[in-house]
Amino acid sequence: MGPALKKCKREETPGESKRFSGCVKVEAVVPLDVQGPIQLTQVVVAGIADKKQISKVIQLLSLHASVRELQHLKRVRKVAVDGKENVLVYIDYARKYGCLRESITSKNNLERLSDNETKAVKTLLEKSGISTEFFASDYYVSNVPVHPPKLRERYELSTAYWPCSFHEDMYLSQLVHSTLFTDKDKTDIMNYMNESFEVAKTGKMKGQREVGVVIVDPESNKILARVHDESSSHPLCHAVMMAIDQIAVLQGGGAWRHLHRKEYLPLGEAVNSSKANDEEEKALCDRTEPSFSGDIQGAGSKQAYICTGFNVFVNREPCMMCCMALLHSRVNRIFFSDLNQKEGALMSKTRLHTLSGINHRFEVFRVYEADRENL
Ligand SMILES: [Zn+2]
Repeated sequence: MGPALKKCKREETPGESKRFSGCVKVEAVVPLDVQGPIQLTQVVVAGIADKKQISKVIQLLSLHASVRELQHLKRVRKVAVDGKENVLVYIDYARKYGCLRESITSKNNLERLSDNETKAVKTLLEKSGISTEFFASDYYVSNVPVHPPKLRERYELSTAYWPCSFHEDMYLSQLVHSTLFTDKDKTDIMNYMNESFEVAKTGKMKGQREVGVVIVDPESNKILARVHDESSSHPLCHAVMMAIDQIAVLQGGGAWRHLHRKEYLPLGEAVNSSKANDEEEKALCDRTEPSFSGDIQGAGSKQAYICTGFNVFVNREPCMMCCMALLHSRVNRIFFSDLNQKEGALMSKTRLHTLSGINHRFEVFRVYEADRENL
Protein backbone atom coordinates (compact mmCIF):
# COMPACT_ATOMS: atom_id res chain seq x y z
CA MET A 1 0.00 0.00 0.00
CA GLY A 2 1.42 3.36 -1.02
CA PRO A 3 1.46 6.39 1.25
CA ALA A 4 -1.31 8.08 -0.76
CA LEU A 5 -3.68 5.21 -0.05
CA LYS A 6 -2.80 5.08 3.62
CA LYS A 7 -4.13 8.59 3.96
CA CYS A 8 -7.53 7.54 2.60
CA LYS A 9 -8.63 5.33 5.46
CA ARG A 10 -12.10 5.98 6.79
CA GLU A 11 -11.78 6.85 10.43
CA GLU A 12 -13.82 4.63 12.73
CA THR A 13 -12.76 5.67 16.19
CA PRO A 14 -15.27 4.35 18.75
CA GLY A 15 -17.71 7.08 19.81
CA GLU A 16 -17.07 9.21 16.73
CA SER A 17 -18.87 9.19 13.43
CA LYS A 18 -17.32 7.42 10.50
CA ARG A 19 -15.64 9.74 8.07
CA PHE A 20 -13.97 9.63 4.71
CA SER A 21 -10.82 11.66 4.69
CA GLY A 22 -8.65 12.21 1.68
CA CYS A 23 -10.03 10.44 -1.37
CA VAL A 24 -12.96 8.29 -2.34
CA LYS A 25 -13.91 6.15 -5.27
CA VAL A 26 -17.39 6.74 -6.65
CA GLU A 27 -18.55 3.63 -8.50
CA ALA A 28 -21.75 3.49 -10.51
CA VAL A 29 -24.13 0.63 -9.75
CA VAL A 30 -25.11 -0.36 -13.26
CA PRO A 31 -27.25 -3.16 -14.72
CA LEU A 32 -25.76 -6.60 -14.26
CA ASP A 33 -25.46 -7.12 -18.00
CA VAL A 34 -22.93 -4.27 -18.07
CA GLN A 35 -20.65 -5.86 -15.49
CA GLY A 36 -19.53 -9.38 -14.64
CA PRO A 37 -19.40 -12.35 -16.99
CA ILE A 38 -21.07 -12.16 -20.39
CA GLN A 39 -24.54 -13.71 -20.08
CA LEU A 40 -25.01 -16.43 -22.67
CA THR A 41 -27.81 -18.34 -24.31
CA GLN A 42 -27.64 -21.16 -26.84
CA VAL A 43 -28.76 -21.14 -30.46
CA VAL A 44 -28.99 -23.73 -33.22
CA VAL A 45 -26.46 -23.09 -35.95
CA ALA A 46 -26.21 -24.37 -39.49
CA GLY A 47 -23.49 -24.15 -42.13
CA ILE A 48 -24.36 -22.59 -45.46
CA ALA A 49 -23.87 -25.13 -48.25
CA ASP A 50 -23.12 -22.61 -50.99
CA LYS A 51 -21.45 -19.30 -50.02
CA LYS A 52 -23.08 -17.60 -53.02
CA GLN A 53 -26.44 -18.13 -51.29
CA ILE A 54 -25.55 -16.25 -48.09
CA SER A 55 -27.79 -13.25 -48.84
CA LYS A 56 -30.69 -15.46 -49.77
CA VAL A 57 -30.34 -17.51 -46.58
CA ILE A 58 -30.18 -14.38 -44.42
CA GLN A 59 -33.31 -13.07 -46.12
CA LEU A 60 -35.09 -16.36 -45.57
CA LEU A 61 -34.18 -16.47 -41.88
CA SER A 62 -35.15 -12.83 -41.37
CA LEU A 63 -38.56 -13.65 -42.79
CA HIS A 64 -39.22 -16.93 -40.98
CA ALA A 65 -36.89 -16.99 -37.97
CA SER A 66 -36.43 -13.43 -36.80
CA VAL A 67 -35.31 -13.43 -33.16
CA ARG A 68 -36.18 -10.01 -31.80
CA GLU A 69 -34.13 -10.32 -28.60
CA LEU A 70 -31.00 -11.28 -30.54
CA GLN A 71 -30.97 -8.45 -33.05
CA HIS A 72 -27.54 -7.42 -31.78
CA LEU A 73 -26.07 -10.62 -33.23
CA LYS A 74 -24.84 -10.70 -36.78
CA ARG A 75 -26.49 -13.58 -38.54
CA VAL A 76 -23.30 -14.99 -40.02
CA ARG A 77 -20.15 -16.25 -38.38
CA LYS A 78 -17.10 -17.46 -40.23
CA VAL A 79 -15.24 -20.14 -38.35
CA ALA A 80 -12.90 -23.04 -38.96
CA VAL A 81 -14.52 -26.43 -38.44
CA ASP A 82 -12.27 -29.48 -38.76
CA GLY A 83 -9.60 -27.27 -40.31
CA LYS A 84 -11.94 -25.94 -43.01
CA GLU A 85 -13.45 -22.46 -43.07
CA ASN A 86 -17.21 -22.54 -42.72
CA VAL A 87 -19.87 -19.88 -43.00
CA LEU A 88 -22.42 -20.45 -40.28
CA VAL A 89 -25.78 -18.84 -39.54
CA TYR A 90 -27.68 -18.98 -36.30
CA ILE A 91 -31.27 -20.08 -36.69
CA ASP A 92 -33.08 -19.68 -33.37
CA TYR A 93 -32.88 -20.48 -29.66
CA ALA A 94 -31.68 -24.04 -29.03
CA ARG A 95 -34.43 -24.51 -26.44
CA LYS A 96 -37.05 -24.23 -29.19
CA TYR A 97 -35.53 -27.28 -30.85
CA GLY A 98 -34.87 -29.27 -27.67
CA CYS A 99 -31.10 -29.12 -28.23
CA LEU A 100 -29.87 -27.36 -25.10
CA ARG A 101 -26.49 -28.39 -23.73
CA GLU A 102 -25.35 -28.07 -20.13
CA SER A 103 -22.24 -26.35 -21.36
CA ILE A 104 -20.26 -25.88 -24.55
CA THR A 105 -16.58 -26.11 -23.96
CA SER A 106 -15.14 -26.62 -27.43
CA LYS A 107 -12.60 -24.10 -28.61
CA ASN A 108 -14.68 -22.99 -31.58
CA ASN A 109 -17.84 -22.64 -29.44
CA LEU A 110 -19.73 -25.29 -31.43
CA GLU A 111 -21.20 -28.63 -30.49
CA ARG A 112 -22.44 -30.87 -33.26
CA LEU A 113 -26.02 -32.16 -33.03
CA SER A 114 -26.69 -35.89 -33.10
CA ASP A 115 -28.32 -37.42 -36.17
CA ASN A 116 -31.68 -37.58 -34.40
CA GLU A 117 -31.45 -33.98 -33.27
CA THR A 118 -30.46 -32.88 -36.78
CA LYS A 119 -33.43 -34.75 -38.25
CA ALA A 120 -35.80 -33.08 -35.77
CA VAL A 121 -34.37 -29.62 -36.48
CA LYS A 122 -34.69 -30.09 -40.22
CA THR A 123 -38.31 -31.19 -39.88
CA LEU A 124 -39.14 -28.10 -37.80
CA LEU A 125 -37.33 -25.81 -40.25
CA GLU A 126 -39.24 -27.19 -43.22
CA LYS A 127 -42.48 -26.75 -41.28
CA SER A 128 -41.54 -23.09 -40.68
CA GLY A 129 -41.06 -22.51 -44.40
CA ILE A 130 -37.24 -22.59 -44.26
CA SER A 131 -35.87 -24.87 -46.93
CA THR A 132 -32.99 -26.95 -45.58
CA GLU A 133 -31.48 -27.36 -49.03
CA PHE A 134 -29.39 -24.22 -48.35
CA PHE A 135 -27.68 -25.79 -45.34
CA ALA A 136 -24.76 -28.16 -45.04
CA SER A 137 -25.36 -31.55 -43.46
CA ASP A 138 -24.04 -30.71 -39.98
CA TYR A 139 -25.96 -28.63 -37.45
CA TYR A 140 -24.57 -27.29 -34.18
CA VAL A 141 -25.42 -25.63 -30.90
CA SER A 142 -23.46 -22.48 -30.03
CA ASN A 143 -23.24 -20.04 -27.16
CA VAL A 144 -24.16 -16.44 -27.98
CA PRO A 145 -24.35 -13.30 -25.82
CA VAL A 146 -27.82 -12.48 -24.49
CA HIS A 147 -27.33 -8.69 -24.34
CA PRO A 148 -25.98 -6.17 -26.85
CA PRO A 149 -22.55 -4.94 -25.77
CA LYS A 150 -22.58 -1.25 -24.80
CA LEU A 151 -18.95 -0.93 -23.75
CA ARG A 152 -15.90 -1.63 -25.86
CA GLU A 153 -14.51 -4.22 -23.46
CA ARG A 154 -17.88 -6.00 -23.42
CA TYR A 155 -17.93 -5.94 -27.20
CA GLU A 156 -14.58 -7.69 -27.36
CA LEU A 157 -15.71 -10.35 -24.90
CA SER A 158 -19.04 -10.83 -26.71
CA THR A 159 -17.58 -11.22 -30.18
CA ALA A 160 -15.38 -14.03 -28.91
CA TYR A 161 -18.63 -16.03 -28.88
CA TRP A 162 -20.45 -14.63 -31.90
CA PRO A 163 -20.07 -11.48 -34.06
CA CYS A 164 -22.14 -8.60 -32.71
CA SER A 165 -23.05 -5.11 -33.81
CA PHE A 166 -21.75 -2.43 -31.44
CA HIS A 167 -22.88 1.06 -30.53
CA GLU A 168 -20.83 2.38 -27.64
CA ASP A 169 -22.81 4.08 -24.89
CA MET A 170 -20.46 6.93 -24.07
CA TYR A 171 -22.32 8.06 -20.97
CA LEU A 172 -22.41 4.52 -19.60
CA SER A 173 -18.71 4.26 -20.36
CA GLN A 174 -18.08 7.35 -18.24
CA LEU A 175 -20.18 5.89 -15.44
CA VAL A 176 -18.48 2.53 -15.46
CA HIS A 177 -14.96 3.87 -15.85
CA SER A 178 -15.46 6.41 -13.06
CA THR A 179 -14.60 9.36 -15.29
CA LEU A 180 -17.89 11.16 -14.78
CA PHE A 181 -16.81 13.08 -11.70
CA THR A 182 -14.04 15.63 -11.34
CA ASP A 183 -11.83 15.73 -8.25
CA LYS A 184 -13.93 18.66 -7.01
CA ASP A 185 -17.12 16.61 -7.50
CA LYS A 186 -15.57 13.75 -5.54
CA THR A 187 -14.62 16.07 -2.72
CA ASP A 188 -18.21 17.36 -2.57
CA ILE A 189 -19.53 13.78 -2.61
CA MET A 190 -17.13 12.84 0.19
CA ASN A 191 -18.27 15.80 2.27
CA TYR A 192 -21.95 15.00 1.82
CA MET A 193 -21.29 11.34 2.66
CA ASN A 194 -19.51 12.50 5.80
CA GLU A 195 -22.60 14.55 6.67
CA SER A 196 -24.68 11.38 6.35
CA PHE A 197 -22.25 9.50 8.64
CA GLU A 198 -22.47 12.30 11.16
CA VAL A 199 -26.25 12.51 11.23
CA ALA A 200 -26.47 8.70 11.37
CA LYS A 201 -24.28 8.78 14.46
CA THR A 202 -26.49 11.45 16.00
CA GLY A 203 -29.48 9.16 15.45
CA LYS A 204 -27.68 6.23 17.00
CA MET A 205 -26.89 8.29 20.08
CA LYS A 206 -30.63 8.94 20.37
CA GLY A 207 -31.41 5.22 20.27
CA GLN A 208 -32.27 5.02 16.56
CA ARG A 209 -30.72 2.82 13.89
CA GLU A 210 -27.48 4.25 12.58
CA VAL A 211 -28.76 5.56 9.27
CA GLY A 212 -28.46 9.15 8.11
CA VAL A 213 -29.60 10.87 4.93
CA VAL A 214 -28.61 14.14 3.34
CA ILE A 215 -30.57 15.53 0.40
CA VAL A 216 -28.85 18.12 -1.75
CA ASP A 217 -29.99 20.37 -4.56
CA PRO A 218 -27.11 19.95 -7.04
CA GLU A 219 -27.93 23.26 -8.74
CA SER A 220 -27.20 25.27 -5.62
CA ASN A 221 -25.17 22.65 -3.71
CA LYS A 222 -27.38 23.37 -0.72
CA ILE A 223 -28.33 20.75 1.81
CA LEU A 224 -32.14 20.66 1.97
CA ALA A 225 -32.59 17.78 4.39
CA ARG A 226 -30.30 16.20 6.93
CA VAL A 227 -32.19 13.52 8.74
CA HIS A 228 -31.59 10.36 10.76
CA ASP A 229 -33.65 7.25 11.32
CA GLU A 230 -36.74 7.57 13.53
CA SER A 231 -37.99 4.01 13.30
CA SER A 232 -38.28 3.66 17.07
CA SER A 233 -41.10 6.25 16.82
CA HIS A 234 -42.85 4.48 13.94
CA PRO A 235 -41.77 1.46 11.84
CA LEU A 236 -42.20 3.43 8.60
CA CYS A 237 -39.94 6.25 9.70
CA HIS A 238 -36.74 5.04 8.09
CA ALA A 239 -34.19 7.78 7.55
CA VAL A 240 -34.90 8.04 3.82
CA MET A 241 -38.65 8.28 4.40
CA MET A 242 -38.06 11.00 6.96
CA ALA A 243 -35.74 12.87 4.61
CA ILE A 244 -38.31 12.88 1.80
CA ASP A 245 -40.89 14.00 4.31
CA GLN A 246 -38.57 16.77 5.40
CA ILE A 247 -38.45 18.04 1.82
CA ALA A 248 -42.25 17.84 1.76
CA VAL A 249 -42.33 19.95 4.92
CA LEU A 250 -40.16 22.55 3.20
CA GLN A 251 -42.70 22.61 0.40
CA GLY A 252 -45.62 23.07 2.76
CA GLY A 253 -46.61 19.41 3.20
CA GLY A 254 -45.21 16.47 5.10
CA ALA A 255 -46.83 13.61 6.98
CA TRP A 256 -44.51 13.36 9.97
CA ARG A 257 -44.12 16.97 11.01
CA HIS A 258 -44.39 16.08 14.69
CA LEU A 259 -41.37 13.80 14.41
CA HIS A 260 -38.98 16.17 12.68
CA ARG A 261 -36.30 17.49 14.97
CA LYS A 262 -36.21 21.19 15.32
CA GLU A 263 -32.78 21.44 13.76
CA TYR A 264 -34.10 19.94 10.55
CA LEU A 265 -37.11 22.18 10.14
CA PRO A 266 -37.20 25.35 8.06
CA LEU A 267 -36.90 28.67 9.85
CA GLY A 268 -39.91 29.40 12.03
CA GLU A 269 -40.98 25.76 12.06
CA ALA A 270 -39.01 24.60 15.07
CA VAL A 271 -40.84 22.50 17.63
CA ASN A 272 -40.06 22.37 21.33
CA SER A 273 -37.34 19.95 22.18
CA SER A 274 -36.01 18.88 25.55
CA LYS A 275 -32.59 19.03 23.96
CA ALA A 276 -32.99 22.55 22.65
CA ASN A 277 -29.87 23.62 24.47
CA ASP A 278 -27.82 20.68 23.43
CA GLU A 279 -24.64 22.14 21.98
CA GLU A 280 -24.26 19.49 19.32
CA GLU A 281 -27.81 19.93 18.09
CA LYS A 282 -27.37 23.69 18.06
CA ALA A 283 -24.29 23.26 15.93
CA LEU A 284 -26.21 21.09 13.50
CA CYS A 285 -28.99 23.64 13.47
CA ASP A 286 -26.62 26.50 12.72
CA ARG A 287 -25.05 24.58 9.87
CA THR A 288 -28.31 23.48 8.33
CA GLU A 289 -30.61 26.47 8.71
CA PRO A 290 -29.16 28.66 5.95
CA SER A 291 -30.31 26.07 3.43
CA PHE A 292 -33.86 26.53 4.61
CA SER A 293 -34.17 30.24 3.92
CA GLY A 294 -36.64 31.75 1.49
CA ASP A 295 -35.35 30.02 -1.67
CA ILE A 296 -37.01 26.79 -0.62
CA GLN A 297 -40.38 28.13 -1.69
CA GLY A 298 -38.91 28.75 -5.10
CA ALA A 299 -37.36 25.31 -5.19
CA GLY A 300 -40.70 23.75 -4.32
CA SER A 301 -42.71 25.73 -6.81
CA LYS A 302 -40.60 24.71 -9.81
CA GLN A 303 -40.78 21.01 -9.07
CA ALA A 304 -43.18 18.48 -10.50
CA TYR A 305 -42.40 15.95 -7.73
CA ILE A 306 -41.06 16.23 -4.20
CA CYS A 307 -37.40 15.53 -4.95
CA THR A 308 -37.14 16.21 -8.68
CA GLY A 309 -33.47 16.69 -9.57
CA PHE A 310 -32.15 16.29 -6.01
CA ASN A 311 -29.24 14.07 -4.97
CA VAL A 312 -29.46 11.77 -1.96
CA PHE A 313 -26.53 10.74 0.23
CA VAL A 314 -27.12 7.90 2.67
CA ASN A 315 -24.57 6.01 4.73
CA ARG A 316 -26.29 2.65 4.21
CA GLU A 317 -27.91 1.12 1.15
CA PRO A 318 -31.67 1.78 1.46
CA CYS A 319 -34.39 -0.89 1.66
CA MET A 320 -37.03 -1.47 -1.02
CA MET A 321 -39.62 0.73 0.69
CA CYS A 322 -37.21 3.66 0.82
CA CYS A 323 -36.00 3.09 -2.74
CA MET A 324 -39.54 3.08 -4.08
CA ALA A 325 -40.22 6.29 -2.18
CA LEU A 326 -37.10 7.83 -3.74
CA LEU A 327 -38.19 6.64 -7.17
CA HIS A 328 -41.67 8.11 -6.77
CA SER A 329 -40.26 11.40 -5.52
CA ARG A 330 -38.08 11.53 -8.67
CA VAL A 331 -34.59 11.80 -7.22
CA ASN A 332 -31.69 12.38 -9.58
CA ARG A 333 -28.85 10.40 -7.99
CA ILE A 334 -28.38 8.25 -4.89
CA PHE A 335 -24.97 7.82 -3.26
CA PHE A 336 -24.51 5.23 -0.53
CA SER A 337 -21.59 3.70 1.31
CA ASP A 338 -22.31 0.56 3.32
CA LEU A 339 -24.05 -2.44 1.82
CA ASN A 340 -27.31 -3.58 3.39
CA GLN A 341 -27.01 -7.30 2.68
CA LYS A 342 -30.35 -8.13 4.29
CA GLU A 343 -32.64 -5.57 2.65
CA GLY A 344 -30.66 -3.38 0.26
CA ALA A 345 -32.57 -2.71 -2.96
CA LEU A 346 -29.89 -0.91 -4.97
CA MET A 347 -27.20 -3.58 -5.04
CA SER A 348 -27.51 -6.32 -2.41
CA LYS A 349 -30.93 -7.86 -2.99
CA THR A 350 -31.80 -6.25 -6.30
CA ARG A 351 -30.90 -3.22 -8.42
CA LEU A 352 -34.24 -1.47 -8.48
CA HIS A 353 -33.06 1.36 -10.69
CA THR A 354 -32.03 -1.06 -13.44
CA LEU A 355 -35.29 -3.00 -13.65
CA SER A 356 -37.47 -2.63 -16.69
CA GLY A 357 -40.91 -1.14 -16.22
CA ILE A 358 -40.11 1.47 -13.58
CA ASN A 359 -41.51 4.90 -14.38
CA HIS A 360 -38.49 6.98 -13.37
CA ARG A 361 -34.78 6.43 -13.91
CA PHE A 362 -32.16 7.56 -11.42
CA GLU A 363 -28.47 6.86 -11.06
CA VAL A 364 -26.90 5.03 -8.15
CA PHE A 365 -23.32 5.19 -6.92
CA ARG A 366 -21.48 3.39 -4.17
CA VAL A 367 -18.86 5.49 -2.46
CA TYR A 368 -15.76 3.71 -1.23
CA GLU A 369 -12.61 4.58 0.50
CA ALA A 370 -10.10 4.29 -2.27
CA ASP A 371 -8.19 1.53 -0.47
CA ARG A 372 -11.25 -0.51 0.53
CA GLU A 373 -13.10 -0.75 -2.76
CA ASN A 374 -13.25 -4.55 -2.76
CA LEU A 375 -14.89 -4.89 0.64
ZN1 LIG B 1 -35.84 1.87 4.44
